[in-house]
Amino acid sequence: MVNERIKLIQGDITKVNADAIVNAANTSLLGGGGVDGAIHRAGGKAILEECIQIRNRQGGCKTGEAVITTGGNLPAKYVIHTVGPVYNNGSKGEDGLLASAYLNSLKLAAENHLETIAFPNISTGIYHFPKTKAAAIAIKTVQDFLAENGTVKQVIFVCFDDENCGIYKGML
Ligand code: ADP
Repeated sequence: MVNERIKLIQGDITKVNADAIVNAANTSLLGGGGVDGAIHRAGGKAILEECIQIRNRQGGCKTGEAVITTGGNLPAKYVIHTVGPVYNNGSKGEDGLLASAYLNSLKLAAENHLETIAFPNISTGIYHFPKTKAAAIAIKTVQDFLAENGTVKQVIFVCFDDENCGIYKGML
């Protein structure tokens, strides 16, 4: 049942038509490289303007937490910006922080009555989280959430690179 609500696609998350796509942002919320840069480029300035308002109100976004903005020019209605951990050696609470990034994004989607949400492979780019371990944490966190929550109907994992795609195919 739960796994029927999980979908895997390979490609560019800025093209995905979902109620919300998740951004692997940084604590400043001011944009960056990787998927963050791609989302701001494709979504236009309305997203950054809302990020700046949130930053002025609450000083950015802590690692493991999430905030929501418009989707601007994207096909997605909203962007949920979450901050995954930078991976050092795994002894700084990275696993728990990555799980929190997924969980808090899902909770925010449910609170906003969003039914479809697409995730990139948070922290596995510039933040160097080991990809297999990150995938296991992402999948487990999503499965546990979907088992308890009926608002979110579908979660889409959007893998960009072949390595992540292969790992997710093997695990799902
Ligand atoms: P982080 O800083 O959290 O590691 P990155 O953006 O560097 O964030 O990488 C996170 C993941 O996003 C990586 O697996 C990368 O391959 C992927 N990625 C990069 N661009 C896109 C995109 N346009 N759509 C989906 N995923 C992307």
